[in-house]
Amino acid sequence: METMWAPWRSSYVTNIASKEEGKTKRGCVFCSALEAENDLDRFIIHRSENAFVILNLYPYNNGHMLVIPNQHVSTLDELDRSVLHELMDLVVKAQHVLLQTYSPQGINVGLNMGSAAGAGIDQHLHFHVLPRWSADSNFMTTVGKTRVIPESLDESWRKIRENWDKS
Ligand SMILES: [Zn+2]
Repeated sequence: METMWAPWRSSYVTNIASKEEGKTKRGCVFCSALEAENDLDRFIIHRSENAFVILNLYPYNNGHMLVIPNQHVSTLDELDRSVLHELMDLVVKAQHVLLQTYSPQGINVGLNMGSAAGAGIDQHLHFHVLPRWSADSNFMTTVGKTRVIPESLDESWRKIRENWDKS
């Protein structure tokens, strides 16, 4: 388990410079993303009634998505059952779209509740859904002797969004 969660935790924690800002709804990056008028500006993949799906700005792998309730809550038990079901439906859809888009060998689905559990933004809970390959640190950097440049967030957004909307 430790190995499983470590990769994105480290990148998230080190990259969220203004972590303090996430502690109020006003300064919350997810709440502010939700208010964006243009989905591409914030890499929003999908909005449902009570939740939304967004690309992680600091992906562990291409296609690393976050499934987030609209409500600014830090624990699962603050959410209504219907919202929990909606979140899980989105996680399942994200799994489906990742398989379709990247043909990964595996997928991590995870939720870090509280900073001690590894949450970079601990005031607004979010599920991570990301594609995995065996030895994917190698996969991302080299194939043979050729360096593989990970695709841009724009490119990931376009591919995933297209597959999301048509599946
Ligand atoms: Zn929030």
